Amino acid sequence: MRVARVALDVPLPQLFDYAVPEGMAVVRGARVVVPFGKRSVVGVVMALGDASDVPPERLRAIAALAQDAPPLPEAWLELAQFAADYYQRPLGETLHAALPPRLRRPKPLERAPLAWAITPPGREALAALPARARTKRAVLALLAHGPAAADAPSLTTAAARRAVRELAAAGSIAPHRPEIAPVAPEARFPLTDAQRDAIDAVAAALGRFAAFLLHGVTGSGKTEVYLRLALAAVRAGRQVLVLVPEINLTPALEREFRACFPGHLLVTLTSAAAENERAEGFLAAQEGVARIVLGTRLAVFTPLPDLGLVIVDEEHDPSYKQQEGLRYSARDLAVWRARAVGCPAVLGSATPSLESWTNARAGRYRMLALPERARPGAALPAVRTIDLRADPAKDGVAATLAAAIEARLERGEQALVFLNRRGYAPVLGCGACGWAAGCGRCAAHLVVHLADRRLACHHCGRVEPIPRACPVCGNVDLFPFGRGTQRVEAALAARFPAARILRIDSDSMRAKGRWQSTSDAIRAGRADILVGTQILSKGHDFPMVTLVGVLNADAALFAADYRAPERLFAQLEQVAGRAGRADRPGEVLIQTRYPHHPLYRALVEHDFARFAEALAEERRVAGFPPFVHEAVLRAESRSLDAAIAFLRAAVRAAPREREGVQVYDPVPMTLSRVAGWERAHVLAQSRSRRALQTMLAAWRATLHGMRPPGDVRWHFDVDPIEF
Ligand code: ADP
Ligand code: ZN
Ligand code: ZN
Repeated sequence: MRVARVALDVPLPQLFDYAVPEGMAVVRGARVVVPFGKRSVVGVVMALGDASDVPPERLRAIAALAQDAPPLPEAWLELAQFAADYYQRPLGETLHAALPPRLRRPKPLERAPLAWAITPPGREALAALPARARTKRAVLALLAHGPAAADAPSLTTAAARRAVRELAAAGSIAPHRPEIAPVAPEARFPLTDAQRDAIDAVAAALGRFAAFLLHGVTGSGKTEVYLRLALAAVRAGRQVLVLVPEINLTPALEREFRACFPGHLLVTLTSAAAENERAEGFLAAQEGVARIVLGTRLAVFTPLPDLGLVIVDEEHDPSYKQQEGLRYSARDLAVWRARAVGCPAVLGSATPSLESWTNARAGRYRMLALPERARPGAALPAVRTIDLRADPAKDGVAATLAAAIEARLERGEQALVFLNRRGYAPVLGCGACGWAAGCGRCAAHLVVHLADRRLACHHCGRVEPIPRACPVCGNVDLFPFGRGTQRVEAALAARFPAARILRIDSDSMRAKGRWQSTSDAIRAGRADILVGTQILSKGHDFPMVTLVGVLNADAALFAADYRAPERLFAQLEQVAGRAGRADRPGEVLIQTRYPHHPLYRALVEHDFARFAEALAEERRVAGFPPFVHEAVLRAESRSLDAAIAFLRAAVRAAPREREGVQVYDPVPMTLSRVAGWERAHVLAQSRSRRALQTMLAAWRATLHGMRPPGDVRWHFDVDPIEF
């Protein structure tokens, strides 16, 4: 009897045994459909054996072997195993999180080939088919002239579809993949010396592992570096993985890669793609048809048998860290993959993460610098601070900034006003009794959204009507405190009545295609003032923006989260990078009460290195990452007491052998309640990643054996960024 050990999508650490039916060609990596309880579920075969601990009468059999795709390759299984081990999550859950959703469902994927070609038996069939088989003859006759696209009109009528299906089943026609060669980007400009040096350094490392930190200021032409390297790798017969934080916000990069890698050579993978499309993209990469995979963090799990280059753009972006389910860092897994296959990894950013910066300073990564803007004559914008103590803000905007906006309006240029808060006002409060509108399900205030006259929770999505009166004291004069994008938009509209103002935040950009049409409108000059959040800080190019104004950024200087300054610097440097990309010089004005704060000084001087060094020193002294390694054990429950009690028990059960690992006391998270769930956690820290990993693995094994009381659920978050 043959037995398959199958990984299933369940929160249990073990594999499940199933009997392999006679004649079923099951191998490691095969996707199979198996009975689990009363359900049929998809599993992945991890191993085969000839015995099981399950008594034969209880051993159930595999129901079906998935035929819609080849088995998952060995390298992919090893990636999933590594992610499961490192992020302390059961293998089955990890594997399934790494698969596209469509391949997790028992129903086979019906794959649509790109094109059809006639086979030699098909040519014989054409001669032999009776005249009444009209449609089949027509299809074969068409293909006898050469391959045809599967969506050609004459192949997509109902009758033709049936004929195609039957001819394919009979082997008369077969899927066809046209040979396409990549196209070198046309020589629009000579490369800068810095670009050339960066390309040469990475190109010389093709074929072996090396990690590069491409530290290039905004507008330094990083995309061109990625493109040339990708071209070199593809021409050398390799595949390339390109990760970006958000494809929709950086259409230029996708456009340039598309032009270089037409047709099926490139697939894009994002969570927004239709399920079938995502599965097709995954398989096109696995089968080697796609040579470039361009995608968001989930694309790091794409099987790439010929992987020869890994690129992570905007590597500092927090969206590379998945914050639920399998909590992985796509950037870190990407580097792991490069090391595993032995190819270079290029991490690019104008504001590298402190992790990558430290790796480069320690010599683990090689630093490549693009210190200047690529376009001849283009300079970095002049950054200045506005001291709010001397020049107080009126409706959020200081006189100096208002005058600078006015000047842009007169010159027909664009101004961008940045603040990191959407909605109208962050709080609705009562001046009489001190009440403030809070979310009933989260430990957070409701945000006033005047545009749709509602209060909204930015954590759980709950919306409520704006109350007419204070629910505590009945006062009808409720007051919005603070300022969000909607309120600033309204204030600017009042101050500059003739200006065309565009608000750009995740509320106004929700609809599909909205970002594209908005950025087209900006580029075409159909707006004068842009008001928006960090969406505007992502790498796009608005040549007519010559002024960036930053409102109230100070809160992040003193936030409890030690990563807040790092994020603030990155956001401001990126948003500043939007100013003056073309032939007109840009200006950045930052409103602050702390104009002498080192963070702002570093921005003024465009001195990322100094900022990073100072921050690194602070973290080293305080014992924070990247100088220590961290993980948290998090528990969630409707009751905070229950969550904390479970964590206390978990700490007591933690392995005693844990040299070099410090385990702290359970505490509620900063945002302790979300959507009705109370959240608490325990921090574990170590200077040694290995010591931490060993301890966590042992701890997790113990925890799987404990039964958490009531509704308590737990998970680990390794290298967490949320506390
Ligand atoms: P980054 O991603 O580093 O911010 P981009 O790759 O978007 O910068 O490049 C900024 C602009 O500079 C783009 O419009 C690009 O076409 C242009 N560019 C890139 N390289 C060169 C070059 N060598 N000479 C002139 N312009 C260049
Ligand atoms: Zn009141
Ligand atoms: Zn809420």
